[in-house]
Amino acid sequence: MTSRYDILFQPIKLGPVTAPNRFYQVPHCNGFGYRMPQSLAVMRGMKAEGGWGVVCTEEVEIHHSSDLSPYIEGRLWDDNDIPALRLMTEAVHKHGSLAGVELTYNSHDASNLYSRVPAFGPRSMGVTGGSGYEPGQTRAASKDDLRQIRKWHRNAALRAKNAGFDIIYCYAAHNLTLAFHLLSRENNRADEYGGSLENRVRFFRELIEDTKDAVGDTCAVAVRFAVDQLLGDNGMRFDGEAQDIVSMLAELPDLWDVNISGWSNDSSTSRFEKEGNQEKYISFVKKLTTKPVVGVGRYTSPDSMASAIERGIMDMIGAARPSIADPFLPNKIKEGRYEDIRECIGCNICVTGDTRFVPIRCTQNPTMGEEWRRDWHPEIIQQKKSEKEVLVVGAGPAGLEAARALGQRGYRVVLIEGRREPGGRILLESALPGLTEWRRVVDWRLTQINKTPSIFMYPSSQMTAADVLEAGPRHVMLATGSAWRRDGVGRYLSRPAPGNGNIFTPDDLMNGKLPSGNVLIYDDDHYYMSGVLAELLTQNNCKITLVTPAPMISYWTQFTLEQGRIQKRLMRLDVTLLPNHALASHTPTTATVTHTVTSAESTLACDAVVMVTDRIPNDALYHELKPALADGRLASMRLIGDAEAPNIIAQAVYSGHLSAREFDEDINRDETPFRVERAII
Ligand code: ADP
Ligand code: SF4
Repeated sequence: MTSRYDILFQPIKLGPVTAPNRFYQVPHCNGFGYRMPQSLAVMRGMKAEGGWGVVCTEEVEIHHSSDLSPYIEGRLWDDNDIPALRLMTEAVHKHGSLAGVELTYNSHDASNLYSRVPAFGPRSMGVTGGSGYEPGQTRAASKDDLRQIRKWHRNAALRAKNAGFDIIYCYAAHNLTLAFHLLSRENNRADEYGGSLENRVRFFRELIEDTKDAVGDTCAVAVRFAVDQLLGDNGMRFDGEAQDIVSMLAELPDLWDVNISGWSNDSSTSRFEKEGNQEKYISFVKKLTTKPVVGVGRYTSPDSMASAIERGIMDMIGAARPSIADPFLPNKIKEGRYEDIRECIGCNICVTGDTRFVPIRCTQNPTMGEEWRRDWHPEIIQQKKSEKEVLVVGAGPAGLEAARALGQRGYRVVLIEGRREPGGRILLESALPGLTEWRRVVDWRLTQINKTPSIFMYPSSQMTAADVLEAGPRHVMLATGSAWRRDGVGRYLSRPAPGNGNIFTPDDLMNGKLPSGNVLIYDDDHYYMSGVLAELLTQNNCKITLVTPAPMISYWTQFTLEQGRIQKRLMRLDVTLLPNHALASHTPTTATVTHTVTSAESTLACDAVVMVTDRIPNDALYHELKPALADGRLASMRLIGDAEAPNIIAQAVYSGHLSAREFDEDINRDETPFRVERAII
């Protein structure tokens, strides 16, 4: 049967290998890397099982002098690293897909905190890897050093081939690699590797030629090149030198993988960029080469994907995040199950696996990162063990996911929600500036719930303990959420901030109760909430001062790659920013703040304070029902999501999923409930 998406399923030749379709999982970090090779292999294999025709690694260090610690990436330092990566290529090949490896030599973006040798740079320059501000500089690479690095790259390519990879990268993207820095206009080396464009391209050309020579007979050699840094004339420009560079190297690689850099531009969140946002930068590439081109743009819609190929923007649809949110996206398109696609919401929680050095997590896909250690499959779940029925109270992300997954197991589920519309916090938060796409967390779950005959949902039903006991099911899950605190208590203040000011909470604002005049937002939450509320209130003509005890505005958003954009937006909106300050007291017309380092006090004109601090779990129902559990009127009860412990949305979804998987199972609370990858002694 022909479909309008057939073009996505046409095989394509990449040099000596052939990809089975146009779905290309581009390199992405995951927090597993060399340290957790089994977790990595099974996670990558899952993408292949779900239909991604090409599945790549993350950055893979070619030599110990480009050691990316504390980040946990891949390694091919020597032959001892081959078996770990072979696990991955075997997992990918099992499903007929190609495996790609992104070989990396990161210059000053390597901290070398583990190997303790200097990295080579285009010149002696400060290290930007690790924290970004590690003390220490690179060693200026001599011509001999560059020859040496080419040899290491070649050796790593041979090891990669030995490990079973089909596509081997020469990497010059994300402002990270030595190759990229040599390409840049600020490379003023006096030798034949600096100055003129031809000289600056030399090293990259040599890397590609060496790699082709070493492995090009059986492996495709891909180039990853960032065509724009969004720095105007201070960086690479897609309408400037990038065109000359692509022209000069046009037919040399077997595949062009093109994007923009740095990483925060490449993986911008949905709050700042929409699907297909890179098209305008990368569309020139196909005009300059006959080789296949892959690009990214957080494509989740099959129409946009097919259109990107039809319009000649790219030949293969590159994806990191859409493949994380839904490893089975290609198969779902193939089977015409479009409404089953679990669309990425562009929140970058996945990125925090890398930036916090822990296994990858995903808001939409709670099984991401759990494939090996918990045997979780994104599409398959163990079937019910009995005819037990479950009552789930609260249809926020936790309750929706618990009900959906229990229904998928085959249990009869009654899902009850107090509000007229299901969705919980997401319903409210997705109406805030820039967060519309977050609704997908609810939409996907409602679609699945509506298709599951054993789930019965009742909105507009606020439940009391008596209602729960009357409802029927003797197994109860309480996903009743949390409420923002009003008193300022949080990480910094352990006692309420004194005063008689006009206090608002995010819940007030999201429910339409807005302050006016001079508003102080006190942020001891440190994620997105204070920033989006500042945007909301400036739209309502408030004059905002954002006060936070942290040394940085929206501190935690640096881990989702958003901090710079948030601060820029707030500054453009004329929000006064006061990092390193805590709220001391408030009156109806003033607020007093204290400097967290010097204790200096200052008093500001302030008509209202918005407290973005801790939340209080809505666990009253749980406590009211405990006696019923004790005397056997209830057979089991579990508190999940924010009602158990307020956290990010990803954690609420995960909690719902976990509780559904664990329901009716024998769980020994004294044992670690997942496999742990340990060094073998
Ligand atoms: P989570 O993030 O843990 O899923 P949310 O706050 O998003 O939590 O969702 C909690 C949901 O539970 C809200 O939609 C709320 O209206 C609903 N809820 C809370 N208490 C009750 C109750 N007693 N009866 C019915 N629904 C409730
Ligand atoms: Fe998309 Fe967020 Fe999942 Fe990352 S964590 S894949 S951005 S939904």
